[in-house]
Amino acid sequence: MKVTEHIAQAKGETLFSFEIIPPIKGRSIQELYDNIDPLMEFNPPFVDVTTSREEYVYIDRDGLLDKKLTRMRPGTVGICASIKHKYEVDTIPHVLCGGFTKEETEYLLVDCHYLGIDNVMALRGDAMKEEKYFEPTAGGHTYASDLVTQIRNLNTGQYLHEVIETDNCSDFCIGVAGYPEKHMEAPSMQTDLKWLKRKVELGAHYIVTQMFFDNQKFFDFVKAAREIGIDVPIIPGIKPIAVKRHLQLLPQVFRIDLPQDLIDAVEQCRDNKAVRQVGIEWAIAQSKELKEAGVPVLHYYSMGKSDNIREIARAVF
Ligand code: FAD
Repeated sequence: MKVTEHIAQAKGETLFSFEIIPPIKGRSIQELYDNIDPLMEFNPPFVDVTTSREEYVYIDRDGLLDKKLTRMRPGTVGICASIKHKYEVDTIPHVLCGGFTKEETEYLLVDCHYLGIDNVMALRGDAMKEEKYFEPTAGGHTYASDLVTQIRNLNTGQYLHEVIETDNCSDFCIGVAGYPEKHMEAPSMQTDLKWLKRKVELGAHYIVTQMFFDNQKFFDFVKAAREIGIDVPIIPGIKPIAVKRHLQLLPQVFRIDLPQDLIDAVEQCRDNKAVRQVGIEWAIAQSKELKEAGVPVLHYYSMGKSDNIREIARAVF
């Protein structure tokens, strides 16, 4: 079922959902199941599965280093299929511009259609680790909006090289990313919102936001989006702080601000066990306020760990 249908069916009740990351290749999928199992009691209507960019690895060949491009966490669509089957829950693969040609994207979307996957999240992807800025892949898309167009075209039978007249078109519900604190590369919030609106005009059906720790930033973002005519559901993304290093890491990687009260509370912690508790309590307070404000879904970034998300969900749902 489509995310928009789940939201409509909930009739104003806030839903619970979460995002998982495929395991590093070679590791068992059981680890993933072990993290999903405890979250199923909160009835998530859908689970997102991220896609990671490819990266360079260096293989020692008799003293000479051979540089190879590889994806360390492959398997997004396979994981979507296995979770959908095992838990009877909708799964949402993240589809990236970076690292994929348009043809590869078409094949991936065809796989998703055959697997009965009804939703996809269309994203540009970040720059590769070795790059300072995002470089479009040769033969791939530059912006998420281009990807939205490709998915929308496929929904009407327009493949890359032919138009198929069929009564069996895909009908993907398309999610896109939004940034309550502005995307790091956007010159202003107004410009970023203009491009967000473009993604919606081209066919995106809902928005999931980057993590934020100050709800007022989310409320302001939603207000500004509504004012320029973005009328699709906006789903807040929540991440509980878990270790002290997050104080530096999260602003650096995601270009977000942390509220001073949260920083003070984390700095006073003696160890990461205490930090984890602060993170849980902060996320509970955030979630309760967002739920009170009537958000359609609370979407949690689990980063492969479910125990803190479970504690938060127990307090909120
Ligand atoms: P876009 O919408 O293409 O925007 C990128 C930048 O370009 C923005 O600054 C925007 O303002 C600007 N822009 C957009 N269109 C135009 C245009 N036509 N002309 C000029 N400028 C333009 N990354 C992963 O690698 N894997 C994941 O699974 C993943 N999941 C994510 C899930 C969520 C909910 C979010 C919020 C982010 C996720 N990301 C993921 C990170 C995301 O890929 C990065 O934030 C990336 O840098 C931008 O992606 P986007 O889809 O927002 O890009």
